[in-house]
Amino acid sequence: MNPLIWLTGLSGSGKTTIADALKQQLPNCYILDGDVLRKGINQDLGFSIEDRIEVGRRIGEIGKILLDANHHVIVASISPHRATRDKVRTLIGDSYIEVYIQCPLEVCEQRDPKGLYKKARAGEIKFFTGIDSPYEEPVHSEVTVDTSILSVNECVKQIMKYIETRW
Ligand code: ADP
Repeated sequence: MNPLIWLTGLSGSGKTTIADALKQQLPNCYILDGDVLRKGINQDLGFSIEDRIEVGRRIGEIGKILLDANHHVIVASISPHRATRDKVRTLIGDSYIEVYIQCPLEVCEQRDPKGLYKKARAGEIKFFTGIDSPYEEPVHSEVTVDTSILSVNECVKQIMKYIETRW
């Protein structure tokens, strides 16, 4: 079974950017992007704890199907709750690789690639992770990359180095 690489981190930490670059290194690779799935299969779900857990469960189940179809899978999803990520770990088993895309909130907020922090600070978005909704940092991620220090290429290299020790 190929790996499912689960990128977790704050909005603006670099999940989508790293997912796109990492995809170039992995054959038959599919990216499950949390934001994209929210417009489709998860459009009935919001940002409460219960809904975020269900979002995680659905992404995990879809990822499992893609692994069964022999894809490499990258998930780019804030996935702020440890319990949700741990459930996916149990579902996927040894193929699950958790990568913490670490970046200080101040840097994410400065980057603000989608203008979401500005909206959250203005009170236009409620329950925004890092502002008025918690992010639980991983405690047993397989890889951690700090995007405020490393370049995109360096982050991808570190993740690939880990994958190559196992596959
Ligand atoms: P997320 O998907 O986590 O919300 P994005 O990938 O959409 O984050 O945005 C991250 C922003 O940070 C992009 O504008 C990207 O160019 C920038 N950036 C700067 N350094 C890095 C790095 N080392 N890794 C990833 N993104 C970086």
